Amino acid sequence: MAEGCSHDCGNCGEDCASRDMHVKPHELSKIKKVIGVVSGKGGVGKSLTTAMLAVTAQRNGFKTAVLDADITGPSVPKMFGVSEKAMGTELGILPVSSKTGIRMMSMNLLLEDETEPVIWRGPVIAGAVLQFWTDVIWDEVDYMFVDMPPGTGDVPLSIYQSLPLDGIIVVTTPQELVSMIVKKAVVMAEKLNIPVLGIVENMSYVLCPDCGKKIEIFGKSHVEAFAEELGVKAVARIPFDAALTKCADNGLIELYEGDYVDALFKSIE
Ligand code: ADP
Repeated sequence: MAEGCSHDCGNCGEDCASRDMHVKPHELSKIKKVIGVVSGKGGVGKSLTTAMLAVTAQRNGFKTAVLDADITGPSVPKMFGVSEKAMGTELGILPVSSKTGIRMMSMNLLLEDETEPVIWRGPVIAGAVLQFWTDVIWDEVDYMFVDMPPGTGDVPLSIYQSLPLDGIIVVTTPQELVSMIVKKAVVMAEKLNIPVLGIVENMSYVLCPDCGKKIEIFGKSHVEAFAEELGVKAVARIPFDAALTKCADNGLIELYEGDYVDALFKSIE
């Protein structure tokens, strides 16, 4: 990025596209893979999918971390039942660990009162995400999952450009799948040369509690066709499951037994 960048590319002669604009993490961090979890809009289960992927990676023996880049809607710590505040040292900020050792950093681990809203403009929010990358001592991490802000606005764009994402996982729901919103998110990543590693269809179906039959409440799933259209091989379907909501709401996501994202994680591996 040019010094004093105004983000107004139309009036700037700098050739940023050909440059590596990735920002270096903290000098004590050794992060091997960084995977963004994105959605076209909020409320589709992006944070829940991020948490489930992190739990799966940790269960498979990998040193795992979650960077909660959803600054205005931070929900990852709550799903893990993590409420202690992040501490700083002279060298940098220390992430907070979950019960099974997943390290995380989130706006809610810094705010005195977690119900306090973050009323900041885009560049300030993007700056905070960047600080989670540069000022946090992540130490050794095999897989870092980044819970991205929803949509294709200013903040996701800055993150795509600044963090060295190895790929993204796109989360959608059956009703939203056919809409163009999720495609916008995919196209944005592709334009920035970030590979789409997989697609998750959340709330894909409900399992009948009596007979175990899959009931596709939003109609037939289109995820396979959608993935094929985008040339993405790995697909996961997560049912709408009251036990999942309960685990997430009570900070017990690490105890949830559903293995719906296991195959997807294996394919990333
Ligand atoms: P987003 O990050 O896309 O805004 P969240 O992951 O925070 O969405 O999910 C929104 C709410 O829906 C949360 O309370 C979460 O527990 C619930 N939820 C998401 N997916 C499911 C699911 N498959 N089954 C049950 N509850 C779910």
